[in-house]
Amino acid sequence: MTDHHLDDYRPIVGDQVIDELHVLADHVRHRRLQHINSTSVGGGVAEILTRMVPLLRDLGIDTTWDVIKGNQAFFAVTKAFHNALHGGKESITEEMLDVFRETTAMNLADLNDYGDVVIVHDPQPAGLIAKRPEVGGRWIWRCHIDVATPDPRVWNFLQKYVEGYDASMFSMPDFAQRLSIPQYMVPPSIDPLSDKNRDLTNDEVQAVVARYGLDPERPIVTQISRFDRLKDPLGVLAAYRLIRRRHDCQLLLAGGGATDDPEGEEVLNEVREAAGNDPDIHVLELPPFSDLDINALVRASTIVMQKSIKEGFGLTVTEALWKRKAVIGGAVGGIRLQLLDGVTGFLVHSPEGAANRAIDLLNDPELRQAVGDAGREHVRENFLTTRHMRDYLLLMLAMEHQGEELSVLTTR
Ligand code: UDP
Repeated sequence: MTDHHLDDYRPIVGDQVIDELHVLADHVRHRRLQHINSTSVGGGVAEILTRMVPLLRDLGIDTTWDVIKGNQAFFAVTKAFHNALHGGKESITEEMLDVFRETTAMNLADLNDYGDVVIVHDPQPAGLIAKRPEVGGRWIWRCHIDVATPDPRVWNFLQKYVEGYDASMFSMPDFAQRLSIPQYMVPPSIDPLSDKNRDLTNDEVQAVVARYGLDPERPIVTQISRFDRLKDPLGVLAAYRLIRRRHDCQLLLAGGGATDDPEGEEVLNEVREAAGNDPDIHVLELPPFSDLDINALVRASTIVMQKSIKEGFGLTVTEALWKRKAVIGGAVGGIRLQLLDGVTGFLVHSPEGAANRAIDLLNDPELRQAVGDAGREHVRENFLTTRHMRDYLLLMLAMEHQGEELSVLTTR
């Protein structure tokens, strides 16, 4: 997990931020905090919890993390839910809803230890709320996905579970729903000291570049993402082909799978096929725990893309901004919180738009540096793990004082 202590973050975020965390922790230390999600590896939620759980413990908060179990059929259903909640067209059958209910029942029978405050992440484990009458505590449903325009059938199915919680948490106001429970807005975060984000020497970076067969002398345009259609890897390929008409560069599309995403292999095959035999297109399938390699590959990149069609937040954007990279992102979901267009990065709506921005950036090192520097400060202010911990501690406090008006926090 992590061998860092909160004090290690003082030089990055300042003393005041860390001191405040200690003050807040003093108020909630008597409460046990539990996180529950559906995968321990792959994807943004696992990424955040891997780093944050040990830091919360370091702060003296008794924090646990449980992962629900599910078979392939269950994760195929929840991936269809995921796509449908993102507004995609999916045919959801009664049998699929039954698979969800049955796996929920199995996990309810399996999991017997619950915290005083339980944060359940995303739709997959949402049904565990059925345990609440028996075990008590305060339950929060944490939604990481972009549910601005959900398929009503799937949302209505999920809503019945969600409204059993004490509160819900979304990454940005655009995702707020009509719900009978309070909704809190909490964006995700990255850990600046993790292997994914910590500083690397130039030698470390160049060693990884050489290992993956990239040319260090020529520009590299990169997208690091699970191979998922909503990340639009084919759109990135199309943009690359347009860029190449005007500017030399290499394209790096790198990503691995997540245990709760069964579609990865299919999409990877589509990408490989579309890439053809262009020696400047590098499609890398990364194994889990490739954090240092990903860190180095992003640092070696001239431009980072995240051309998502839907995106809850997009930690890959945060990770690239922290490394002072010029980022071009799809103008969707949480990417819009991070890329303030023309200031901390560029928002685009099409492969053509992405290509135009990329050409401008490839031709203008000063522009790359200016947006990269602004992006790093934007992340330091808003999207580091210390801010995220603060929000969770405040939420624990709010749960303790439920019913009292905390207007600063709630949108209701
Ligand atoms: N990631 C990774 N290996 C990969 C692809 C992605 O470790 O092969 C990481 C990436 O660096 C980021 C997270 O997984 O930390 C993805 O989070 P994001 O919010 O961008 O997207 P999600 O996968 O949750 O939709």
